[in-house]
Formats: sequence, structure tokens, C-alpha cells
Amino acid sequence: MRFVEREDWGAPESSPASYLASARGVKIHYLGTAYSSRPHSTCDDYVRSIRASHLANRVENYVDIAYTALVCEHGAVFEGRGSHKRPGANGSATLNSRDYAVCALLGSKGLTSPPDAMLTGLCDAIDWLRRDGDAGTWLGGHRDGYATECPGDKLYAWVKKGAPRPGGSAPDPGEDVYVVKAGDYLAVIARRLDVSWKDLAKVNGLREPYTVYPGQELIIPEAASGGGAEVPPFPGAGAFVLGKSHPAVEELDRRLIAKGFTRHHDGNGYQPGPRFTEFTRRNVADVQRSRAELSGDPDGYPGPLTWKFLHS
Ligand SMILES: [Zn+2]
Ligand SMILES: [Zn+2]
Repeated sequence: MRFVEREDWGAPESSPASYLASARGVKIHYLGTAYSSRPHSTCDDYVRSIRASHLANRVENYVDIAYTALVCEHGAVFEGRGSHKRPGANGSATLNSRDYAVCALLGSKGLTSPPDAMLTGLCDAIDWLRRDGDAGTWLGGHRDGYATECPGDKLYAWVKKGAPRPGGSAPDPGEDVYVVKAGDYLAVIARRLDVSWKDLAKVNGLREPYTVYPGQELIIPEAASGGGAEVPPFPGAGAFVLGKSHPAVEELDRRLIAKGFTRHHDGNGYQPGPRFTEFTRRNVADVQRSRAELSGDPDGYPGPLTWKFLHS
């Protein structure tokens, strides 16, 4: 997924919109105005201009850009209000509490047919919200339950077909969705757990082509270590899920504070707590970017090596 975080397109890091624990699913929108193809280098300008126009809208009184995410014709997913934030684009408070709102940069004039890259980006956004935003499987358009043309007939027809990925392309591996494919599948797990896939294969007696099946138990090799310090065992990737609570997150927070990685917080300073928040994730990403051996995949989700470093 080509994901553009809020601060990377010029919005404040965290949206002031209210918290949304989960959603029934995702509603797809379009711009509903004339829109013509543009170079991708100007897409962030366009997203900024949408946010500015929403903030200037005195009738709706938006606190932020109204959409959860926006997808350009080149397939990039721009983080709008983001996951676990109530959108403002679905038409009413009830509708906004029910589904996330993802807007395609598609016009009612000019560019009116969604290109494949855009459809792929929309699929990536939907997968992301199911993974990180507790979105259910319902899919629809703005026009479902609300009188509007949005998201236009062509895009709506695709949504109602179940939003198929163009050309049967593989889903984005993301953080927790494993591609069930020999090699890649194992590689994705290995990256997530910060252990080499070779070690993983060796310990589990797997031979090429490293087929791993969903639900198969894998033995994670202990990180090669010589240190004698007491390091609590790595609690497993399942302890660190965005928006979810786990006692290990509090321990993680204490180590982040001890190491001084606390620049992302809600305005009251970074405090230990059981919930794995976007602030936690971004502080962990800072840790990972700060160390050569952790910087290969600075996704903000701690694996055994990040855990070990934080306890060193
Ligand atoms: Zn709409
Ligand atoms: Zn673009």
C-alpha cells in the first residue's frame, strides 16, 4: 500500500475528530465536481485543498477533512481522519458512526472512470481499515441510505460487485494479513517478527519452497543473544494491535519512556497505558528508525529485536 500519513501531506498529526471504536464497514465517495487527471506530485496539494475547503465550511462545521482516507488516481492512499476516528462525510451523525468514508479523487466531469491504480488503492484502503480500524465487511457507496449521486455510477457498480482487485492482484500483505504463497508468506511473517526467514525455516524444519499454511504453528527462534540482562519474554505480535489493549503495552510504554522515545503524544505528554495507540506506534517507529538493525521495516510494531533493544 502506498500510504501517505497525515503529517506527510501537511495535516496535523492526529485528527481532532471523535473516537470510533469500530464500524460496520466502508462507504466509498467521489468528489462530485469536475476533476481532471494531474501529476501525482500535485495530489498532496489537492488533498490539502479539500481539507482547507472542509475547514472553511461554516454550514457543516467540520473539525477536519471529512473523509477517513482519500485515494488518488495513481493508487496512493492519503490518510484523512484516519482509523478509529468518526468521519464527517456520510450525511448524518448516525451514518458517520456506522461506516468509514473513503473518497476517490474521481470527478462527475473530466476523470469519471476509475483507473485500475485507483481501484487498487481503494482496495488497499478497505483492507487497512479492516485490519487497523475494526471495520466490518460491509461495503457500499455514499448513496446507500442517503439521497446523492455519490460515488457516481461507474465506481458504485464496482463497489456493489464487492470491490474486486483489478486483474486479480494479490492483497496488500499489510501488518497481519499474510499472503498465502510459498516464500512470500514466510517472508512476511519473518519480517513481522524480526527474525530471519532462514532461521524460521531451520527451526521449523521447513524446506523450500517454504510453504506455510494459515493457522500453522511456527516456532520462533530465540534471537541470538549474549546479554545476561533480564528481558521479559517477547509477548508476541498479537499483543500489539492498534486500538487494542494488552498488559504488555504498558511495559512497552515504560521502556519507551526510559529510552526517551516519547515525542508523539496526545498533548499531555506520553503516559504508560495498556492501549496500543497511534502515538505508541509512532514512538516505536522512531526507535526502529534510530537503530540500523531495526530500520529495515520501521512499521512501529515491536518484534523480538525491538523488544530486546528497549530492554537493553
Ligand atoms: Zn459522498
Ligand atoms: Zn496521485
